[in-house]
Amino acid sequence: MKTSLHPRFENLPEAARAETILRSCVHCGFCTSGCPTYQLLGDENDSPRGRIALIKEMFEVGEVKEAHSTHLDRCLTCRSCETHCPSGVAYTELLDIAKGIMADTHARSLRSRLSRGVLRRILSAQGLLKTGFKALRTLRFLKWLIRWLPVGIPRVPKIQQATHKTEAFSQTVVILEGCVQQAATPSVNEALRALLTSQAVATISIQGEACCGALNYHLGEHDQGRQDMRRLLHQVRDQVPQGALIVSTASGCGVTLKDYAKFFSPSDPDYALAIEISGRVIDVVEILQRYTWNVEPRRIAVHTPCTLSHGQGLGEAAKQLLLGAGFELTVGAPASLACCGSAGTYSVLQPALSKQLRDQMVAGLERDAPEVIVTANVGCHLHLAAGTAIPVMHWVELLCQQSQQ
Ligand code: SF4
Ligand code: SF4
Repeated sequence: MKTSLHPRFENLPEAARAETILRSCVHCGFCTSGCPTYQLLGDENDSPRGRIALIKEMFEVGEVKEAHSTHLDRCLTCRSCETHCPSGVAYTELLDIAKGIMADTHARSLRSRLSRGVLRRILSAQGLLKTGFKALRTLRFLKWLIRWLPVGIPRVPKIQQATHKTEAFSQTVVILEGCVQQAATPSVNEALRALLTSQAVATISIQGEACCGALNYHLGEHDQGRQDMRRLLHQVRDQVPQGALIVSTASGCGVTLKDYAKFFSPSDPDYALAIEISGRVIDVVEILQRYTWNVEPRRIAVHTPCTLSHGQGLGEAAKQLLLGAGFELTVGAPASLACCGSAGTYSVLQPALSKQLRDQMVAGLERDAPEVIVTANVGCHLHLAAGTAIPVMHWVELLCQQSQQ
């Protein structure tokens, strides 16, 4: 699609990139069938093809109209459309560029600005998050309180620590703590530490670990998001042994870290660092699949977050590992359900759509009555836990808990 850029955007560096991406879309519509918001609403403007057309219009008319923000805000950034697109359209990158323009030029309602501002502040205040989740875990018996929260409060399973002689460690890896995860589900990384220790892999953490930047960047606050990314890049450069792998147990953070090079221009002083460090980031499944695991089997439903499947191309990897370890996997949710509706801040900013998507996903996961539902991202973990009575865990927690090693 040819785009005639409005003079207002002619000197904007991102506009040229947006124009290239817009040109790569041939308008075929293969992406629409896999789009969760199109499946729910049946409106072309809530499909990837429709959103691409809206972004094109935005660049041509030189202003952000209400319809642009309404339909672009409804996008989950689940990347299902990228998986379905035969032309390789970089939809997420295009959407991020559009969101940056919306943040700079579009006057949102007071309510929208307030909720976004509050979310950004709360989710990046680690001390507050830790205290809040601790209090909520203690008050879990107040069922009426939990019911009104936009997230579930999963139990923190007790993790059996593994021991290994220090001199026998074969490798050292860094475990990323993650802002929300270290407050909401700290046992996920405890479990990973125990599993890796049992395989003679030493683990270290980053002191005062900064946010990966996903929260701010995907809300269109690009300067703040890049600032977060720079802080984390510099911490890794200064604290982590050269060449050490960086392991993420939250697929939402992992996908952002693997994409770091896209967020910096080649002339940026941190561009080379972003390429080098993002190349060392792996999802937890990419390290745990190197070892053999044996478990006390349980019947489980596996939820694969879109940030793992569409974002990192690792949709089947965790399932294969769990099957190989001896778990019994239920059929689970149909593959046509691309997203559970958590999508970062989506469950708070688009609560009605998010709940519909969650209920569909939970119904699929609950089919065949699993004992436990497992997932691979903290946002999905909390979101699914709010919609089911079946315990929800990160698959790493369950692997550690049931492991016979
Ligand atoms: S990212 Fe997901 S919700 Fe957004 S347009 Fe693509 S498929 Fe639809
Ligand atoms: S994004 Fe891809 S699949 Fe969707 S309309 Fe454009 S070219 Fe076709």
